[in-house]
Amino acid sequence: MSEQRIAMVTGGARGIGAAIADALERDGHKVVIVDVDEAKLAEVSQATGRPGYRMDISDFDDVTEVVGRIESEVGPISILVNNAGITRDGFMHKMKPENWQAVINVNLTGAFNTCRVIAPGMRERGHGRIINISSMNGQRGQFGQCNYAAAKAGLLGFTRSIAQELAGKGVTSNVVCPGFIKTDMTAAMPEDILKAEQAKIPVGRLGEPTDIADMVAFLARDETSFINGVTFSVNGGQYMD
Ligand code: NAP
Repeated sequence: MSEQRIAMVTGGARGIGAAIADALERDGHKVVIVDVDEAKLAEVSQATGRPGYRMDISDFDDVTEVVGRIESEVGPISILVNNAGITRDGFMHKMKPENWQAVINVNLTGAFNTCRVIAPGMRERGHGRIINISSMNGQRGQFGQCNYAAAKAGLLGFTRSIAQELAGKGVTSNVVCPGFIKTDMTAAMPEDILKAEQAKIPVGRLGEPTDIADMVAFLARDETSFINGVTFSVNGGQYMD
């Protein structure tokens, strides 16, 4: 069994992030959740006892300040799960530049910001697990989601690069690409599109947040030190890379 570690999960107040927090806690880790949704954060923190911190991952100064507080109040972060993400869908030829930028800022720059601030401490301590949550749509592209697909594809190259840079100091980096998972993000999609997508999934169902959380918890273990720079598809076989 792994040593007890401190894990930080971005977007940890709901959806896949909340399931990841549950799974890491089940494996014995101390989990800190960060999110922009302050009300939800307070509610989940109270219900679970998990320390919750308001953090906007797209703002480097905010990340620096809040990580500093977490590390002095809770302890050094050894497991970083970059899960927070947003969508601002639209056709490329009609997309507002601010919707392009917002998605890049949160989904791609957000992961750079947290890694940039947290990885130096992991390197010094000789241990770390970075797990980035991308998407099947970052692997295959998606109609109406050029901003989201570009940011999520960017995470694949980002992860493979830092995997080469950090591994010599005991810090591994991997990326998980969920397919269609039942959360608020997919509940916002039109019913007919969801049904059509489900019909394309060989296992015959949409994914559950726990399907992703179990993969993340596995990658967070001390025993996975030889797994580095890998993209894990968790999509029921809908897209085989
Ligand atoms: P979700 O239910 O929308 O949860 C995402 C959480 O991240 C929300 O609590 C959100 O807060 C928070 N967040 C947004 N912007 C943030 C920021 N700047 N700083 C900190 N936190 C922020 O999403 P989900 O469905 O669980 O998805 C989790 C991850 O999996 C995302 O990266 C998503 O792209 C990826 N994914 C999901 C699916 C799927 O089918 N659901 C498929 C592939 C990949 P607010 O609510 O206040 O915005």
